[in-house]
Amino acid sequence: MAVSDIQNNKLLTFVNGIHPKDYKELSNNCKIQRMPFVEEYTLPLGQHIGAPSKSIVQKGQYVKRGELIADSVGFVSVSLHSPVDGIVSDIGIFDTPKGDVLPGIKIKTDRFSTQQFHQKAVDFESLDVNGFIKSIQNAGIVGLGGAAFPSHVKFAIPEGKNCKYLMLNGCECEPFLTADDRTMVEYPKQIIDGLLIVNHFLKAEKIYIAIESNKPKAIEVLSKYAEESNSNIEVVTLKVKYPQGAEKMMISAILGNEVPSGKLPIDLGVIVANVGTIKAISEYFRTGMPLIERIVTITGTSINNPTNVLVPIGTPMDEILEFCGGIKDNTARILLGGPMMGAVQKNLNVPVVKGTSGLLVLSSNEVKDFDQYNCIKCGKCLDACPLFLNPSRMGLLAKKGLWDEMLDFHVMDCFECGSCSYVCPSGIPLVQSFRVAKGILREKSIRDQNK
Ligand code: SF4
Ligand code: SF4
Repeated sequence: MAVSDIQNNKLLTFVNGIHPKDYKELSNNCKIQRMPFVEEYTLPLGQHIGAPSKSIVQKGQYVKRGELIADSVGFVSVSLHSPVDGIVSDIGIFDTPKGDVLPGIKIKTDRFSTQQFHQKAVDFESLDVNGFIKSIQNAGIVGLGGAAFPSHVKFAIPEGKNCKYLMLNGCECEPFLTADDRTMVEYPKQIIDGLLIVNHFLKAEKIYIAIESNKPKAIEVLSKYAEESNSNIEVVTLKVKYPQGAEKMMISAILGNEVPSGKLPIDLGVIVANVGTIKAISEYFRTGMPLIERIVTITGTSINNPTNVLVPIGTPMDEILEFCGGIKDNTARILLGGPMMGAVQKNLNVPVVKGTSGLLVLSSNEVKDFDQYNCIKCGKCLDACPLFLNPSRMGLLAKKGLWDEMLDFHVMDCFECGSCSYVCPSGIPLVQSFRVAKGILREKSIRDQNK
C-alpha cells in the first residue's frame, strides 16, 4: 500500500497486526459531557515525558483558571496551569495513576467563582517558528494519546530535516476507547484549524487525517471541513486493525514506507500528532487556554453509564466514575487506558493527568486467568507482530533471564502493543516479559554509562 492507493479508495493498512473486537459501541455515540467542577484537584509536577515542572506557587495563594503554577525546566519539559479558580491547598508528595508518588500541587476550588476563563487569544501569525515552539511549551501541551510527550519537542524539526507530511492520528485502534472519535465528530472545526496553525510553521506539503473505517461519522464530518478549508488536507480511511494507531504502523499504511529501527518519523519527513493535541493547540491560540482539561473515555461493561467526559486535569478518578453512574457490583478490574496497552488501576483516589485517555471498567465475566503452557512453535506471534520481531524466541530468552541475548532480537524496538500475547494459544505472557526485559536492560545501560 502506498499514497497512490489513497486515490484508488483502498482501505490502507500495515502488515501483520490483529483484529480484536472493538467494543466501541458502548460509548461512541455518547456526546462528550462536561463534568461539573469538584472540590479539589491534584496536579502532579511530572505528568509528561521529560523533566518535571517546577512549582512557582505557595500554599494559600489564590490562582486563576489557566494561570501558570509550575514552569518548565529545560527543553524537554512543559508548563503546568491551574484547572480552576481556587486556592493552593497543599504542595507535597501525592499518589499518581502510575502507582508511584510524585511532587505535586493541590488546588481547592473557589466555590463562589463562575470559573470563567479570562485569558486572551495568541496571535500565531506574529510568531516565528521559535516563538511557536515556545508558545506550545508554555501552554503545557503534550501528546494526549497517552505518552504525554511534549508537543513542542516533536514540532522542533532538527536541522537538516524537513516535514513533508503532517499526519493527524485519528485511528484510536485500542478497543473500547472513543475519546478521539467523539472529539473528531464534535470539534471538527477546531481540528482543521489546529492542523492549519501547526502547518503554518511546519510547512508540510500534505496533511493527512488518518481514521479507521469504524468511525464513519468522523470521516464524514472531517472530510467535509477539510474540503471547505481549501487546503492540502486529505482524510484517508484506514482498515480497522490493531495497532493501526501506532505511529510507525500509520506511516507504513499511508506512505508504504517503514520507519527503520532506531529512527524517528521525522527521518522520513513525517510528524504525527494526536487528535486531542491538535484541538488543544487550536484552543490555545484562539482563546489563550493552556492545556487544563482533556476528554477521557469512561467505558466497559461494569460502569453504569459509559460515556466521554471533558474533565479538568487533576480531577480524582473516583469522582469521574461516580459522575458516570458508579461501578457495578461485579466489577473485577479497572484499567487505565484500553485492554491492549492499559495498566491495572488499583488506587482510584488519583488524578486524571494529561496522558489519561480512558478508564475501562471490566466485569468478572471478562477478566479470566489463563493457564500457561510451553511454546508450541505455532508462529502465531510472529504473524501478529507489526514490527516483524520474533516474540516466541524473545519469550524463551526472557524465561531464562538471557536479557543481553534479547538485544540481538531487537527487544528494545518492541513498543509493547501486546498483539503477540493476544494470539498466543499457550497463554505465555510475552509482552509482560518484554516489559521486564526492557526495564532491566535500560537500568543496565544507565549503570554502564555511569561506570
Ligand atoms: S508486544 Fe512487541 S513483540 Fe509483541 S507484537 Fe507488539 S511489538 Fe511485537
Ligand atoms: S504464539 Fe505462543 S505458542 Fe505460538 S510460537 Fe508464539 S510464543 Fe510459541
